[in-house]
Amino acid sequence: MTCRIAVFGTGYLGATHAACMAELGHEVLGVDVDAGKLAKLESGEVPFYEPGLTEVLERNLEAGRLRFTSSYADAAEFADVHFIGVGTPQKKGEFAADLTYVDSVIDQLAPLLTEPAVIFGKSTVPVGTAERLRARARQLAPAGDDVDLAWNPEFLREGYAVRDTLHPDRVVLGVDRALPGRAVEVAREVYSQLLDEEIPFIVTDLATAELVKTSANAFLATKISFINAMAEVCEASGADVTVLADAIGHDARIGRRFLNAGIGFGGGCLPKDIRAFMARAGELGADQALTFLREVDNINMRRRSRMVELARDAAGGSLLGARVSVLGAAFKPDSDDVRDSPALNVAGQIQLQGAAVTVYDPQAMDNSRRLFPTLNYATSTLEACAGADVVLVLTEWKEFRELNPDVLGTVVRGKVVLDGRNCLDVDRWRTAGWQYRGLGRAASE
Ligand code: NAD
Repeated sequence: MTCRIAVFGTGYLGATHAACMAELGHEVLGVDVDAGKLAKLESGEVPFYEPGLTEVLERNLEAGRLRFTSSYADAAEFADVHFIGVGTPQKKGEFAADLTYVDSVIDQLAPLLTEPAVIFGKSTVPVGTAERLRARARQLAPAGDDVDLAWNPEFLREGYAVRDTLHPDRVVLGVDRALPGRAVEVAREVYSQLLDEEIPFIVTDLATAELVKTSANAFLATKISFINAMAEVCEASGADVTVLADAIGHDARIGRRFLNAGIGFGGGCLPKDIRAFMARAGELGADQALTFLREVDNINMRRRSRMVELARDAAGGSLLGARVSVLGAAFKPDSDDVRDSPALNVAGQIQLQGAAVTVYDPQAMDNSRRLFPTLNYATSTLEACAGADVVLVLTEWKEFRELNPDVLGTVVRGKVVLDGRNCLDVDRWRTAGWQYRGLGRAASE
């Protein structure tokens, strides 16, 4: 059955969700306040880098199933299913999430809902938000209690966003158990193709659905910081964290995924989500339950400082006047997202210590320039590394993993490589005459 859907927010989450809902055969209207973004999307251009999304966008624009607008009135008129996908960034100077954008969607949309409608929240929010928004939507909407609001957290990974939206590991839906509305029935219609594929569909209360998302991110952040803590111990004891990760990862109870030691996590989700989670637990009087997340955050930030230390050592004890190449700026490969990027953070710290830093990233150059305009930017790996004393690999793009150390060796001034993601073939680099250093591994002899 075809649904008429509006998606509020057309960023990484919302644009992907809108295009994928159209791909499922629904009629979709993407709504944003950013006119530049809307113009790009309308012309078939994805305003960020996400593999495979352009094709889905173009196909559905052409089929007439997907449109974009800045008008809430159009959205309220057109759709009876509304998804909220706006940002929930960290508040300035606080750990808590800034809910201004989510609140503003409800405040603008609800007064326009004269007919029965269902609103699904997808943004990541502190537990308790959905209940508050549900009451507010019903209070503001002329259709009153015929407006239902449910929470349907999003688990997509940038770089795999299309696949994750069309083939998620699970669909989670939080509803008001006491006053059930039409949300479950409507979600079944929206996701019928997914549910036909027997993707687990977990219906629960609003609070649990919100917590599924924040606790999943807390777990993932903890797993990364766990292996990075092991990396610290490996560095102190001369052990190798990559072998350790492989060996413990064979235990199915542990699992090898997300056990890659390196400069840690970043991006627009994990750091701000664990902080918002701690802040919310504090408000609920359950702050002790999450004190470990502060250490998870600390371990993560320490890895960035450690990388800077290694760069300083590699430059002979001082970065002043050193030429440093940084390969990678996005917070992870296959994305152009530089929000809280460990790579750019390290590049910035090294520059502040007096080095001339040149950055290259296959997709994140424009975003990096906007955020860190004082760094130098090159248009290729070879250009970035020309005359370098030290090369840092900080985002594990395939093109960096597969770099030829012999070729790179011809353009640098010093054959010193620091592998911030443990993604290079150590033997190959050492055989090519490079001094190699990875995080959590012994220094080269
Ligand atoms: P984003 O910054 O890329 O996109 C947010 C969009 O919302 C922007 O285009 C902005 O212009 C728009 N917006 C702001 N206020 C608006 C309003 N009142 N009406 C309409 N549009 C408005 O953010 P994102 O990465 O897409 O994240 C969105 C939410 O999804 C966050 O809560 C995030 O935690 C969550 N999430 C993100 C990912 C991810 O990988 N990016 C994954 C899962 C969950």
